[in-house]
Amino acid sequence: MEADIRSIQTEAVSVLPITSQLILQESKKDATFQAVLKQVRDNWPSTRHSNEVGSFYKRREALCEANGYLMFMDRIVIPKSLQSPVLKQLHVGHPGMQRMKSLARSFVFWPNMDADIEDYVRRCSNCAAASKAPVKTTLSSWPIPSMPWSRLHVDYAGPIKGKMFLVIVDAYSKWPEIFATSNSTATMTIKKLKECVSRFGCPLTIVTDNGTQFCSEAFSKFCQQHGIDHVKTPPFHPQSNGQAERFVDTLKRALLKIGGEDVEDALQIFLQTYRCTPNPSLPDNRSPAEVLLGRKTRTVFDLMKPPISQPTQINERQNDQFNKQYGAKHRSFEAGDTVYAEIHIRNERYWAKGIVIEQKGSVVYNVLLQDEKRQGLIRSHTNQLRKRKPDGKCEASAEQPLPLQVLLEEFSCPDHVPTEDIENPGNSQLDIPVTEPGSSRGNTCPEQMKSNCIDGSSEVCRSQDRVQSRKRTLPFREPSGRKRRLPSHFEYYEIF
Ligand SMILES: [Zn+2]
Repeated sequence: MEADIRSIQTEAVSVLPITSQLILQESKKDATFQAVLKQVRDNWPSTRHSNEVGSFYKRREALCEANGYLMFMDRIVIPKSLQSPVLKQLHVGHPGMQRMKSLARSFVFWPNMDADIEDYVRRCSNCAAASKAPVKTTLSSWPIPSMPWSRLHVDYAGPIKGKMFLVIVDAYSKWPEIFATSNSTATMTIKKLKECVSRFGCPLTIVTDNGTQFCSEAFSKFCQQHGIDHVKTPPFHPQSNGQAERFVDTLKRALLKIGGEDVEDALQIFLQTYRCTPNPSLPDNRSPAEVLLGRKTRTVFDLMKPPISQPTQINERQNDQFNKQYGAKHRSFEAGDTVYAEIHIRNERYWAKGIVIEQKGSVVYNVLLQDEKRQGLIRSHTNQLRKRKPDGKCEASAEQPLPLQVLLEEFSCPDHVPTEDIENPGNSQLDIPVTEPGSSRGNTCPEQMKSNCIDGSSEVCRSQDRVQSRKRTLPFREPSGRKRRLPSHFEYYEIF
């Protein structure tokens, strides 16, 4: 039993990514590390240390301290106790020795890291088993395209564990798209290519071999409809589609190395690793993600980076731009303001009467609901609040609202409470319209949008209500004359 628990704990620790906090914790326990940090602060002596600290000596110019972290340029220095777990994490997708080195050099540093990586990869049995198959290298005579996603090399691999793999590689960025499919028909190929086209746009050229799916009329039609030039490699010379060919080989070996039962899972691990790993065939050793998407994608390795202190000042320019673009206006409320607050109950939303109790942030307020349907304290964003005149009407805006704003606000105007029921409190039944299934926006009728009727009390609105809403009858609760007292810890009290 204890062994079981231990194995579960080990498993849990092994899958958790290494974070900068953990690195900081472990650094504090590491004597060598602390000695190096001291040298960085106090300036290095003119002669090299003979002990372990000495291994940092020749890099002393590039070492610095940032918020207690030891840095080697922009890479975080890993203490001895975490070097092995970091190697394990870097090797998750079995990226191969060179790629693993490139990946490591983007994030971490310790003396002799390269040698440790070489040793680690040589000892990986999965890598050794997969590398027995010699890699067939083919020279590609294709010109380098001038932009990303302009020429795609497409090929099928498999079957591997009962699945076919449609491999699509962008010649410019080396970004791979791979789909595990149940078959390799033209229909399946087109379906998956359409997914890629919707994501990244239509390529100029698609290069394939002479497989039946690529020679089909449907495939030819797909290319025509999307303005794609389809180039088929000469028969019996599949090497002409070398980029896809090579990738198929890389994929097969990667799936073999990653192993496990779930092929789809292994495929995603491989894709994620490949896309974010610096690629020697790309300019400046960039990753496919950087070349295709123009940015580095966030990975678990980013957790090892020391936290950057967040700027405390709000980006005024960005705020102004947002406000300008979306016609947003600064709205503020004060304690005691009577408001309508937007409420969500199940799939229904409506505006309930309330009073602002206090401001809890720049755009957040505590609001006490004083509504027939709902009482109590809630926390509301300024966008969920509208000023309410004591007569129940929303305050007219001094500025002419933008059309989009009008539309958005009108879509969520206050709920209908038939006036005759309010005017006759003696009536002990209150009709509550129930939204029809599928109508997510509640009870707004088209007439309200046109007439700017806020409370839905117009004759047209009420008649619309009767037609559109299925009504159910609930007992009306008589409002008590008791004055409500505020709970003292209301800030911890949230309804939703
Ligand atoms: Zn391996």
